[in-house]
Amino acid sequence: MTYSARKTTALTVLGVVLGGLTGCGGHGIVSTDGPQAEARTAAVAPPRVHAAPAPPPTLAPGPDGRTPVFEHGARTGGKVVALTFDADMTAAEGPRAAAGEHFDNPGLIALLRELKVPATVFMTGRWADEYPAQARSIGADPLFEVANHSYSHYAFASPCYGLPTVAKDDMRADAARATASFRKAGVRNTVPYFRFPGGCYDDASLSALAPERMTAVQWDVISGDAFATNPDAVADQVLDGVRPGSLVVMHCTRSAAPVTDEAVSQVVPELRSRGYRFVKVSDLIRAARR
Ligand SMILES: [Zn+2]
Repeated sequence: MTYSARKTTALTVLGVVLGGLTGCGGHGIVSTDGPQAEARTAAVAPPRVHAAPAPPPTLAPGPDGRTPVFEHGARTGGKVVALTFDADMTAAEGPRAAAGEHFDNPGLIALLRELKVPATVFMTGRWADEYPAQARSIGADPLFEVANHSYSHYAFASPCYGLPTVAKDDMRADAARATASFRKAGVRNTVPYFRFPGGCYDDASLSALAPERMTAVQWDVISGDAFATNPDAVADQVLDGVRPGSLVVMHCTRSAAPVTDEAVSQVVPELRSRGYRFVKVSDLIRAARR
């Protein structure tokens, strides 16, 4: 099969099972101290100055205020590459998880930590509901950032590989519901980036999501890890596709992407030997805005 045919097939298969993420904001730190408590503190000690962390970089809105779309980083900014992992679970897959199907992949996360590979995880809200401890752990690790892949992983544009479709009027709420699931699970290190389920979007969905002020994130390298059985083929496809500034889409779910960790274990040392450095999506966007 040609690269392009393989790519299309993989994307098609992927779309059937996986959904989209919506970017989430919310680095909210809630103070339980009221003004009186602050005043008491000030009487005995100088007020502490909290340097607010810089907000994650986003792109300016697109035409007519629509959600902007980011596909890859600068080609002239050096050999950097961002690996992204979609933690997919649809709103309809609860019974399958209850029956023992694994939509998580803790071994993959452990491998990324062992190899010290920064990564951006595009998580569905349904995934965070199912695996709150893992979601919290990923979101607490500075190695990672957590972005929004919708709540339901249903399609935001139709047709989209057979996925059920989210009504236009419900799109914003679906994205916001994922953000709420992250908050409920205690996920920190969230970034306001959204990945459309199946990568399917149109002007209407970009407009519908605009009030959420997220940056949509696609990719320029599809790994083909969805339903792959041969990790060598996945690794080859990534290694063939990566250029400076590339953004690679992979998956963090044993159910639909069972050989991803084996592929990553090949890709990481090889790309490093070629001089590449791994970064997060926020790093690519920050550099692209300069
Ligand atoms: Zn997905």
